[in-house]
Amino acid sequence: MRYIKPYYYTEFKCIADKCPDTCCAGWQIVIDDETLEIYSNEKDEFSYRLKNSIDWAEGVFFQNNGRCAMLNDNNLCDLVTAKGEGALCKTCHMYPRHIEEFEGVREYSLSLSCPVAARIILEDTNKLIFDIEENDETDPLEEEFEDFDFFMYTQLEQARDVIFEIIQNRDLSVDIRMSYIMDMARKFQNAVDEQEVYRMEEIAEEYKALGEEILQASKFEQISDNIRFEKVKSAYELFKELEVLRQDWPEIIEDVKKNLYNGTCEDYSKIRDEFYHDFVNEITDDRWEIFKEQLLMFFVYTYFLGSVYDDLVYSKLALSTFSVCFIEEIIISEWLKNNKHINLNKCVEISYRYAREVEHSDDNLNILEEMFMDRLQKN
Ligand code: SF4
Repeated sequence: MRYIKPYYYTEFKCIADKCPDTCCAGWQIVIDDETLEIYSNEKDEFSYRLKNSIDWAEGVFFQNNGRCAMLNDNNLCDLVTAKGEGALCKTCHMYPRHIEEFEGVREYSLSLSCPVAARIILEDTNKLIFDIEENDETDPLEEEFEDFDFFMYTQLEQARDVIFEIIQNRDLSVDIRMSYIMDMARKFQNAVDEQEVYRMEEIAEEYKALGEEILQASKFEQISDNIRFEKVKSAYELFKELEVLRQDWPEIIEDVKKNLYNGTCEDYSKIRDEFYHDFVNEITDDRWEIFKEQLLMFFVYTYFLGSVYDDLVYSKLALSTFSVCFIEEIIISEWLKNNKHINLNKCVEISYRYAREVEHSDDNLNILEEMFMDRLQKN
């Protein structure tokens, strides 16, 4: 079994009531069957409160105004206070740690939706590296895989290594790096659709070999404001269809429209130029690029290999690049709203808020992925 973790994985420590947000509000907390069984057999003093806080038909904790029924006014979990962390269900015990399982491989990540994890992920200026451990033993928790496409998995894994190299090529702007990987994404999807998955390795190798040469080519020039304006503006319309997890989220998205898309493309370009001139210059161009690089690494690491299960290679990369672009749009909108002031802490906050809304709803992820596939087919 092979275990892969970003090197910062073990740095995470929950700050509980000191957290600027909470992970116990805004979404339903599903209780695993094993823990439900344990809770149902509880007979101590606390058990009455516990049992009445669970929707037994759905296997989730009830919510009061969107907050978990176990969460008190001080943002502390009454279940932990009464019975200790060992009493938590798997969801609460794991969060924000996340696991993706593949045959013989387990990948760990921290979820960007947790403020502390987001800081660890985004405040790091080093290139992200991964700790890899391997042994010949069978993991007792290893899942049984039926019909796992191991060949496609290895192709994806090799392709991802090349994609990581491109994302971490700091000689290029992140926008060019994104154009580069989206170009690869189209070719990967083509290979999958034509049932020639073996071509993925060739495509990745081709891009790797071309390296600097192809990056000099004009087709990888930075995406123009014109194209960006049209693309993000139309994608923004889609946000109206997404499930809302926090009630103030639609207002944040509406502000993006008001601040960035109500004028012409020239107005939009002027705003972006000013943002880059003021804020990005202030924190330095490099720092801003690294911030976007870490976001992109996070999304690609979390999602790309999942296409072994649904063949949607293109949409996984499109979701990753779109997320970086749209988080930047929200940051620029908030900068404008706040009299052209913003700091990196706020940028981290916007990133974890985005992750909460988009990543923690399967419906939202599906809608976005469908849109990307749809666009690919129309082009
Ligand atoms: S969001 Fe993260 S830091 Fe905050 S309470 Fe949850 S796990 Fe802890």
